[in-house]
Amino acid sequence: MASGYRGRFAPSPTGPLHAGSLVAALASWLDARAQDGRWLVRIEDVDTPRCVPGADRFILQQLAACGLVSDEPVSWQSTRSDFYQAALDRLIACGLAYPCGCSRKDIEAALQASGLARERHHAAVYPGTCRPERGGLAGRAPRAWRLRVAPGVQQWTDRRLGPQQQNVETEVGDFVLRRADGLWAYQLAVVVDDAAQGITHVVRGEDLADNTPRQIRLQLALELPAPLYLHTPLVLGDNGEKLSKQNGAQALDLSDPLAALQAAAQALGLPKAAGNLPDALASWTRAWPWRLAERL
Ligand code: GLU
Repeated sequence: MASGYRGRFAPSPTGPLHAGSLVAALASWLDARAQDGRWLVRIEDVDTPRCVPGADRFILQQLAACGLVSDEPVSWQSTRSDFYQAALDRLIACGLAYPCGCSRKDIEAALQASGLARERHHAAVYPGTCRPERGGLAGRAPRAWRLRVAPGVQQWTDRRLGPQQQNVETEVGDFVLRRADGLWAYQLAVVVDDAAQGITHVVRGEDLADNTPRQIRLQLALELPAPLYLHTPLVLGDNGEKLSKQNGAQALDLSDPLAALQAAAQALGLPKAAGNLPDALASWTRAWPWRLAERL
């Protein structure tokens, strides 16, 4: 019996799945199954320079080998530009998005001049130079589009991490919706698509937790419903760093999908499962620790 739960796994096709991304895939699948919900796969291929040709198909094969198959047709963000443009147009019409003419150098210079060399994850906090009330583009060509972030601390509760908060204005600044190279920013695409697909529950790796308050701000600005969030533990490599494609994580070995899933399940604190792949998935669904108290 299907409930109202709708979850998703949203890989970027920048390379094959590795042990870390399988944890997020398995967790989102188990959470959906534990809630009798639907599980969707969405290929997040908006950052085209980082996408590897064929990686999308390969990821889908890897997931299928692990018994994880989307309940609805897979969607590709690269086909959805019109929807992202419509969302940006709406924000512009409400005065919530503005064009920015700053290069990275301009931003660094402005931060230094103000004595506020603020940094977060090696990215400068945008100082609001091009806000319309501060003079706007001042004759410069528009490069990116940014969200005007309202003041105040954004609070939210993660189903695993508990209460969280971030002052998006001072810790991140007005963030980019459409990049200077014309590509759509992850934040805008993910929020538009989660809403368009009716996603009620987002389950993804803890490395993305820090994006959640920005996404909530965008949901509020676009008057879209906010899903519930659960961020899963990260898998660390032998060097103690997060496993990622950037630091050379190995592609999953498809010759033994059950072994790969056992490792992912272990990272989620689930017991080793006996039997074949469907048995293992069923037993982890029963043991799923983040089952929701209320049925949807
Ligand atoms: N596409 C993102 C990634 O692969 C995940 C986005 C999300 O789950 O919100 O890191």
